Amino acid sequence: MSAAEDYYGLLGVSKTATEDEIKKAYRKMAVKYHPDKNPGDKNAEEKFKKISAAYEVLHDPSKRAAYDRYGAAAFDPQSGGMGGATRGGFQGSFHQEFGGFSNPFDIFREVFGGGIGEFFGGGRSHRSGSRSSSGADLRYDLEITLLEAFRGVEKTLSYHRHVACTHCHGSGAEKGSSRTTCATCRGSGCVTTSQGYMTIQQSCPRCQGQGVVIEKPCPHCYGEGRVVESTTTKVRVPAGIDSGMQLRLAGFGEVGEQGGTAGHLYVRVELKEDKHFERHGNDLHCRVSLPFSLLVLGGETNIDTIDGQAILKIPAGTQAESVLRVRGQGMPILEQGGARGDQLVHVAVEVPKKLTHEQREKLEAFAQACSSSSKSSFFDRLRGSFGL
Ligand SMILES: [Zn+2]
Ligand SMILES: [Zn+2]
Repeated sequence: MSAAEDYYGLLGVSKTATEDEIKKAYRKMAVKYHPDKNPGDKNAEEKFKKISAAYEVLHDPSKRAAYDRYGAAAFDPQSGGMGGATRGGFQGSFHQEFGGFSNPFDIFREVFGGGIGEFFGGGRSHRSGSRSSSGADLRYDLEITLLEAFRGVEKTLSYHRHVACTHCHGSGAEKGSSRTTCATCRGSGCVTTSQGYMTIQQSCPRCQGQGVVIEKPCPHCYGEGRVVESTTTKVRVPAGIDSGMQLRLAGFGEVGEQGGTAGHLYVRVELKEDKHFERHGNDLHCRVSLPFSLLVLGGETNIDTIDGQAILKIPAGTQAESVLRVRGQGMPILEQGGARGDQLVHVAVEVPKKLTHEQREKLEAFAQACSSSSKSSFFDRLRGSFGL
């Protein structure tokens, strides 16, 4: 393995590829270059070894991080040891930590045997009997308007998900061949070894405790038993739904590998900002500017609600910035058949920029009346305090 080896290039993935993409790329190439498919072809065998090494490194987050920083040399036993001073002696420790490369056939079996998650040591569990893994849940972010949340709405969702491969009916095995019982453990998923007095039971290294192996992977899904497909489904969003709430569509998530059950689709709802209303729980807040005289004298006015108009009653002497409540004009309350929150009106004072001659005269007279009344009360109080 040369230090200049480009693992990403070998698998044909980008440097930002996800674990899933790396695994897919490896599956695809491993099926293509497997020596069983290319008997006597030394180039294919070499390529098979290289992609296995690339996969082994890129699949493991800590190995991948080391590779991104130091390149393939971090895993090359030949470049370590001698004169460990290069790169501050990192190499020695990497080799101890990561060891050499695994047998490429072991990697192939581990990937195609169905056991994921237990790859590359650590916490191998016995899973004999469970021969497929259930699919992951998916999340869909759905943005709707406040009015849609008020009325309830039906939305069509388009997304990609894994579905069972129709070619192999989800088994992952090529037509004509099948998933065969693992010869090493005879299907039990466990192997027993004796060391002196002790008998140790371990997860079978050949099938990763699955009890079965795929000898000829399906050429359409590369043994995964599922393929990515674009899916459309409808979802009914109930009236009253709020931001952050999730709707669950059972079985609309990813189908599991090799015939595993499907996960769920979680639709997470987010409300777009509204021009007129701000939602707090089931209440709707809005701001309304009202004439000074109406606030002083009290009365009624029409205001806009989310779905029409309502009458707002204004008590005499209403102050600016006070909040008036209009009952039952808020959002529908989920699962409470027709009950609604309130609309809360934040009052602002409308100050006219232009006045007619008559308005000005009367307002000035009003102002004068205000000042004389406040003066008289001042003198009244003054007189009172001197006992006059
Ligand atoms: Zn298939
Ligand atoms: Zn086995």
